[in-house]
Amino acid sequence: MRDWHNENINLRKFKNAIAPRNLNNDVPDEAVETLLGVARKNAGIFQRYFRMKAKYVGMKKLRRYDIYAPVAASKKTYKFDEAVNMVLDAFNAFEPKVAGLAKRVFDQSRIDSEIRKGKRGGAFCWGFLPEETPYVLVNYRGTGREVATLAHELGHAIHAMLASHHSTFTFHSSLPLAETASTFAEMILIDKLLAEEKDESVRRDILFKQMDDAYATIMRQSYFALFEKTAHELVQKNASVDDLSNAYLDNLKEQFGDALDLSDEFKWEWVGIPHIFQVPFYVYAYAFGQLLVLALYQQFKAEGESFKPKYLKILSAGGSEAPEKILSEAGINIRDPKFWQGGFDVLEKLVSELEKLPVEKPAAKAKKAKTVRRQPALGKIKAAKKSVKKVSKARPARGRKAGKK
Ligand SMILES: [Zn+2]
Repeated sequence: MRDWHNENINLRKFKNAIAPRNLNNDVPDEAVETLLGVARKNAGIFQRYFRMKAKYVGMKKLRRYDIYAPVAASKKTYKFDEAVNMVLDAFNAFEPKVAGLAKRVFDQSRIDSEIRKGKRGGAFCWGFLPEETPYVLVNYRGTGREVATLAHELGHAIHAMLASHHSTFTFHSSLPLAETASTFAEMILIDKLLAEEKDESVRRDILFKQMDDAYATIMRQSYFALFEKTAHELVQKNASVDDLSNAYLDNLKEQFGDALDLSDEFKWEWVGIPHIFQVPFYVYAYAFGQLLVLALYQQFKAEGESFKPKYLKILSAGGSEAPEKILSEAGINIRDPKFWQGGFDVLEKLVSELEKLPVEKPAAKAKKAKTVRRQPALGKIKAAKKSVKKVSKARPARGRKAGKK
């Protein structure tokens, strides 16, 4: 942190510690400040979510350790061929051109899906040259989540193919837009799954995982960035490790309110987040990307057909322009708090839908109690999901999401 300050503020005269990262991401300081401010205002959405989730897992209040606890174990699996058809059908319903590009990955055998000895884990898409169809690697076992991962990685491939008219240096999108096509592709698939899935436990599983992922990607990462801002200032005032840990605990208290039991040892959590030391302020790009997609998806639902050319234009731009310019051409102003609030509104609706479902507690499940449950309105479910296990190889510098623990 001292080196960061010496280099960027003393020598390069940036006005604060986050500004060099913003320049690196090619986004204006004002947009990032707006995003973090709006995130802070919306902490209550996840506090409500955690209070509701406590009821599902049969607790009065969740402990910090319990926030990712599964509420419904679904054992449903899909054969690989079935998964491919589901994904291509979902893409086709959105836009045949998008499905056609995804199909190219299969037609040219650019996908490795089976699990075999010695093969690396995880999933990624590698767009190596603009004129070449990208390679996709997944480890497919058949869970619903893996079908979504397949859609996600194909989304990356589609993004690269749409930008194939740019040069090797500009066809990869910049970091804040790097997960746009992938997350959007997942949402198209999830909407289809939710629309067709009759099994309540599968549906519930999907919805809760969406919220868990939204927490890990949006709110957690935003609060890391807020802590980093505080920490960089404190270090300049010769703060001790204890001072930093106390500041981190205050950050968590603001984030969770009284919705969770937060034990004292969490004040050390920041020590285990490598991004904070290795790539300062990297974390906010996760929140940026995910909220952007939520807001775009909201726009797609509202505008329908007229949205599609704008969306395809965003993807076709690759990394040839700054994200602000690419998005402003689609009518999006990333300096406007209303735009970011649109993303949180999607999540708020999702929590409201989940709150309306009668709670099926673990004890009730054991007795196989039959309850008539209201289904959430399909049109209102538009949250994004993202697996921390996914590492995109499209840009090797991009790392894993900061510690989902
Ligand atoms: Zn990705």
